Amino acid sequence: MAAPLPGIRIAAKGLARRHGRNPGADHGGLRGFGIGARRCATASVALCWLHVDIQPLRPLRGGPASALPSPPDAAAEVARLARGRGALLDVDEAFPEAELIALAETGLLRAPLPLALGGADLGRGGEGAAALAEVLTRIGAGSLPLGRLYEGHVNALGLILAYGNPAQQARAAEDTRAGRLFGVWNTDDRADPLRIEEGTEGPVLRGRKVLASGAGWVERPLVTTATPEGPQMLVPALARGERADLSGWRAQGMRASATGAVALDGLPAGPAERIGAPGDYHREPLFSGGAWRFLAVQTGGAAELFDLLCRHLRELGRDGDPHQRARVGEAAVALETARLWVGQAARRLADGEMEPEATVAYVNLARRAVEQAALDILALAQRSVGLAAFIRPHPLERVARDLATYLRQPAPDRALDLAAAHLLGREGWPW
Ligand SMILES: Cc1cc2nc3c(=O)[nH]c(=O)nc-3n(C[C@H](O)[C@H](O)[C@H](O)COP(=O)(O)OP(=O)(O)OC[C@H]3O[C@@H](n4cnc5c(N)ncnc54)[C@H](O)[C@@H]3O)c2cc1C
Repeated sequence: MAAPLPGIRIAAKGLARRHGRNPGADHGGLRGFGIGARRCATASVALCWLHVDIQPLRPLRGGPASALPSPPDAAAEVARLARGRGALLDVDEAFPEAELIALAETGLLRAPLPLALGGADLGRGGEGAAALAEVLTRIGAGSLPLGRLYEGHVNALGLILAYGNPAQQARAAEDTRAGRLFGVWNTDDRADPLRIEEGTEGPVLRGRKVLASGAGWVERPLVTTATPEGPQMLVPALARGERADLSGWRAQGMRASATGAVALDGLPAGPAERIGAPGDYHREPLFSGGAWRFLAVQTGGAAELFDLLCRHLRELGRDGDPHQRARVGEAAVALETARLWVGQAARRLADGEMEPEATVAYVNLARRAVEQAALDILALAQRSVGLAAFIRPHPLERVARDLATYLRQPAPDRALDLAAAHLLGREGWPW
């Protein structure tokens, strides 16, 4: 193993305040990653910061891809870390920083890049798509907020690889090697939508994005501005901790996703920042078809619920009860249904053998199937476990809140309606 980088210092907010006990005791997962924790000197103040010294297991940059674990193995490793820290990060304005470092160290941040740019072709071609589905599901099982953030990173890199020029792609590869997180911020503040204006030294951005995951942490967001020809993508350069406002994210779940508003006023919006042409962002089947990735993350959350349910029943000796077994059987069917839809959706988008409309319709149906499967598993798990599933710190309580929140994705009715319209507009089953 190469020599580790010097320790990186991170701060995780809120544990001592919430639990009033030694935070170090909660860090089994961290210790597994060679990370030590100690309580800060200001533990008695209302808002305590837990300082954590991290000794990376692998170098962040320059390491040969062959020295890294395979992406699915890396995802399992990162998921273990994230699972161990899920309760710690279940506080407003939290962010999984140690997990982000682990994504960088295990090669997952750069894995979606092509081999020629130092990546692992994760998500590229049929095999790469299957591997990416596995990676997203595993990370989502470990932590839905982390899965959301990693999915945004993968999405942004995919768009830059699809529509960016070689210089922009090389820059993205360099940023990724440096451990910078990407994301896709599409949702506008209605009162102050993001736009391009002429500044004294050239075009600049004005306005705010909202519901932006990783706000304050994503250093390379892919943002969209409306133009008459369709959305224009840009990747402005941000520094950590600037321009973000997380005060509006008081959500039931996904608290550690750092989803907030970001003001981008004054940032350059010239040719170097612009990715592709106006309208490219909405080009199908990539735009709607890419939804399979968040379905993979959601499926991971559902798998975690299933696992927690089974463990609970075994531990209480309730696994022989026929009613409980019936619910476990139903949940298993729902989980495998979600997994199969995700796998097929990923494969169909990657192999590109179908017409774009048929691919989009398929992924839209997958959205409905996965949403229903996850909702079924949620209800079955809560019914089987009972009141304990609603009481902290049972992990099922938190994962259920995260999953219920993350299942809310744009325009679900429209997705099903469009899929049905596609089926009605042709003879026979298109797949
Ligand atoms: C944890 C989390 C992280 C996120 N991170 C990001 C991010 O990083 N970047 C980003 O851009 N976005 C992000 N989002 C926002 C996300 O992409 C969606 O915009 C958001 O989740 C939409 O949820 P909604 O339920 O309000 O959807 P809506 O589309 O408003 O749907 C709500 C309901 O209204 C219906 N509906 C929708 N449109 C209409 C209409 N015109 N007329 C009548 N009914 C309608 C729907 O079918 C549904 O029943 C995030 C969301 C979450 C939950």
